[in-house]
Amino acid sequence: MVPGLESGNFFINMSGIYVHIPFCKRKCIYCDFYSIAARIGVVEDYVGAVCREAGMRRAELQDDAVKTVYIGGGTPSLLPVGVLCKMVDNFRSNFDLSQVEEFTIEVNPDDVTPALVEAYRQMGINRVSMGVQSFVDDELKFINRRHDAARAVAAYEAVVDGGINNISIDLIYGIPGQTMQSWQYSLDVAMRLKPKHISCYILSYEEGTRLYKMLSDNIVSEMDDETCLKMYELMVDVLEKNGYEHYEISNFALPGFFSFHNSNYWNKTAYLGLGASAHSYTCGMRRYNPGDIKAYMAAICEGRPAAEIEVESKGEKYDEEVMLRLRTSFGIDAEQLRIEYGEPYYSHFMREVKPLVDAGRVVREGSIYRISRDYILLSDFIIRELMYGVED
Ligand code: SF4
Repeated sequence: MVPGLESGNFFINMSGIYVHIPFCKRKCIYCDFYSIAARIGVVEDYVGAVCREAGMRRAELQDDAVKTVYIGGGTPSLLPVGVLCKMVDNFRSNFDLSQVEEFTIEVNPDDVTPALVEAYRQMGINRVSMGVQSFVDDELKFINRRHDAARAVAAYEAVVDGGINNISIDLIYGIPGQTMQSWQYSLDVAMRLKPKHISCYILSYEEGTRLYKMLSDNIVSEMDDETCLKMYELMVDVLEKNGYEHYEISNFALPGFFSFHNSNYWNKTAYLGLGASAHSYTCGMRRYNPGDIKAYMAAICEGRPAAEIEVESKGEKYDEEVMLRLRTSFGIDAEQLRIEYGEPYYSHFMREVKPLVDAGRVVREGSIYRISRDYILLSDFIIRELMYGVED
């Protein structure tokens, strides 16, 4: 059996809705996502445009029952309850939400109050994804988060007390100044709270961010690879000892709590992305909304869908499948590749994967190939070797 199947109905066919809320109160130093200040009026107009877009594009889901709704950002918890409620009502009138199994909203701990949690619960939201990042105040200050550690714990407890038990938290490692001890501390606090799902990301230095500038100006230096690897190993160790399954490079879950929303991406399940910079995969095609809120709203106001279709070649589709699947613990089925993409792609895969298997970087079980746990931090390089269209 493919690992993960035992954790529930993971591969069931479902369609999803993703909504991007591009507002933030302040910019975290590492973030290169598109976000702007949440000004009164702009928020309402933007959500109005999202609702209009939902109406224009409802046919793309072909009357499928929606199984996942994910409101991400940005900071969706900045949305006034009344505005969010109107948006959810709009979705209910445009789509069949009667079978939604996972309805997630991303929150900043600083925004969470018992009243907000109660409002979420009444709207049918049953999962909260909380951007904690660290339980160490100095680290939170350094990356310019709004909350401190005590606020994060209080917010987590308020969500649980409010009756939403399916919580995911995000943590970051590799922060300048972070030590093995402080990383262990953050993991320990997380284990005490025991969220159903944890996403752990290594801090990355993206061009255009404040952090990137600090690096260029020699104000900070990147953590060395050896310490990052040790932090990664500590994280896997602590989480697996506590019963979490490492089902994707950056994602861990207690059994039965893999994110359905995440799985949409690698299972090629249809999902409709609404809002500025949202991506969609509907009717077998990828579509991208403009990242710029003004361009997005202008298109919607003119009554035309903002989404542009990306026509993918077979090679691009193959590359994407290899990348998405090899990031998961389920790996990739070479036989399935042969059926879907044909002989040249299959032969390419088999030829390129052999030396990786011989070197122990990829493990093989029947026709399933997975990146070996010891080499997971080298995933990007390994995946690159297996791609069809990418030349060195
Ligand atoms: S809250 Fe999230 S989206 Fe906003 S700046 Fe920070 S990391 Fe980026």
